[in-house]
Amino acid sequence: MEFKKIILKSGRERSLINRHPWLFSGAVKQLPNAENGEIVMIQTNHNELLGYGFFSTQSQIVCRIFEFTSEPIALDNAYWRQKLNNAFELRKRLIDSNTTTCYRLLHAEGDFFPGIIADVYADVLVLQLLIKGTERLSAILYPIFKEMGFEYIYLKTKQSTQLLEQVESVSTWVYQAKEMPVTVLENGNKFSINVETGQKTGFFIDQRKNRQILANYAAQKTVLNTFSYSGGFSIYALEAGAHLVHSVDSSKDAISLCDENVLLCGHANKHESFVADVFDYLKQAPADFYDIIVLDPPAFAKHSRAVDNAAKGYKNLNKLGFSKVKAGGLIFTYSCSQHIDKDLFRKIVFSAAAETGRNVRILEQLSQPEDHPINIYHPEGEYLKGLLMVVD
Ligand code: SAH
Repeated sequence: MEFKKIILKSGRERSLINRHPWLFSGAVKQLPNAENGEIVMIQTNHNELLGYGFFSTQSQIVCRIFEFTSEPIALDNAYWRQKLNNAFELRKRLIDSNTTTCYRLLHAEGDFFPGIIADVYADVLVLQLLIKGTERLSAILYPIFKEMGFEYIYLKTKQSTQLLEQVESVSTWVYQAKEMPVTVLENGNKFSINVETGQKTGFFIDQRKNRQILANYAAQKTVLNTFSYSGGFSIYALEAGAHLVHSVDSSKDAISLCDENVLLCGHANKHESFVADVFDYLKQAPADFYDIIVLDPPAFAKHSRAVDNAAKGYKNLNKLGFSKVKAGGLIFTYSCSQHIDKDLFRKIVFSAAAETGRNVRILEQLSQPEDHPINIYHPEGEYLKGLLMVVD
């Protein structure tokens, strides 16, 4: 099959030789006369092949590369089947299916497949096609997922503000619908998930590892879980024997999900939930009450222009956390903003700590779990970072 070509400017192939999957328009000498989302080949100024990617007519990133190769290859169904199987095989090595039935199967660039997310909830697969290129491939991908054993596939369109590009598809069940909610296990903890109405693909599966770490510290403790959403951290704390858990979220729907999950785990007598703004809640919270505070806000910096304001938000939040946690208590703090890297996040948390004048020590540096792999050539994929700290 012949592909249209993107020709790079002389000397602008460095980032591709380094396998960075994003090609920016500034490096391009000649754009192809291709449709939005079409698969194209990328060549140097000397006609050497560098790889294949999804062309975009809409983004500064004119091509997202899914294959680096100097030799032409067939991009047939077998090629895509192999890509999906590689991702699936890795997950089989990483996930203990006896205790965990929800995980990320495809993590975009982290699985050499830009513009696609696939999350598994028991027998349901939730797909997000974030660019036109992956949307155009959907008719090839659906049968492969079916062959892999996923009978229920839900295509979930992100809200337009979160999209990398405009895609046309609307949220829908692909083959047959599954009645919601579905119950899944995460490290042996039960959660009820509605993939149709829930945030993201239904659950924040990227906090699995961090919830387990919280569980290690939560026995007999009084825990505040802020930005609780469906209660992920709260359930782990309760199951680990926490004395009391408070969950706070500004969304009434989120708190209803949280309450449902608490009922499912059977520790409702040790849990209380609050529909409130976390900043307001923390301001009026008593100091010296919580042994552990979890701070897991939504991404404050959704794009690079928002970094300064986001930094202020993280600083205020962490300052409130530091000032309210008991002496000897723990803070679990996170940022899922891709535009705030872990060094910057640590500096922000440092300045929050310094203003409270308390002694703070880092016990663990936290990140995203293994099923959200970070392509070493694409550091932007490292989006979730966190710190576990003890506060004297
Ligand atoms: N920690 C959660 C995920 C958090 S997602 C988990 O493990 O599943 C972020 C949540 O913060 C969303 O549920 C959103 O409703 C809530 N939120 C956003 N801004 C808020 C605010 N200012 N106060 C309280 N909750 C807020």
